[in-house]
Amino acid sequence: MKARAKSSNTPCPIWVQGDYITEPPIRPVDGAKRPVGHYIDKGGYPGANVYEISIETLCRDTGAVDRRKCGIFESDILLYETEQEIGYFIIQDTETAVDIINGEILGIADLQTEDIKVIGNMIDFPDFVEGMRYCVDTEREIPYLPALDVQITPYPYLKLTCLKCNHTLLSCAYMARHKDCGGYLTADFATKVYRKGEQKEKAFA
Ligand SMILES: [Zn+2]
Repeated sequence: MKARAKSSNTPCPIWVQGDYITEPPIRPVDGAKRPVGHYIDKGGYPGANVYEISIETLCRDTGAVDRRKCGIFESDILLYETEQEIGYFIIQDTETAVDIINGEILGIADLQTEDIKVIGNMIDFPDFVEGMRYCVDTEREIPYLPALDVQITPYPYLKLTCLKCNHTLLSCAYMARHKDCGGYLTADFATKVYRKGEQKEKAFA
């Protein structure tokens, strides 16, 4: 089974992607046997790229891809974007997506590949749904977030403003709440990020 999970035998947990296995092959360097457990085999030389994983982070591959041809896995957070509207989906299992804004349940196969982009997942961003639901419940505009971690992207830093204490912070990763006071944060970018079609409109204005 193709899957992705966080490693548990590395100094820092890292995402590993490959085949989920429970009976790992021997370690090629010293011929050591490994116990039955939860592993991801990244492939390559047999037994050389096998990582022990935290089972609660296991996300199965849905077989679908987004507009950049990136694989879509369970627990992924997707930005849905057309020239008219934006929305966010979460991947519930290998078949089902849920629209966070209106609660609608959709089949992954019914999503338009061209309109969706994986922006993160609920394991790295456990409070994303809560943050978006807060916007819906308080009738605030849903923020446009084409990336939840901007570190390895061309996007500028996220500008997060606390609705409770008014503090503004720049961050490379999305957070729903200000940890100093517990208030909800509004999310934007330090400099304007244009949506599909928006730049064109501006150029002709
Ligand atoms: Zn605050």
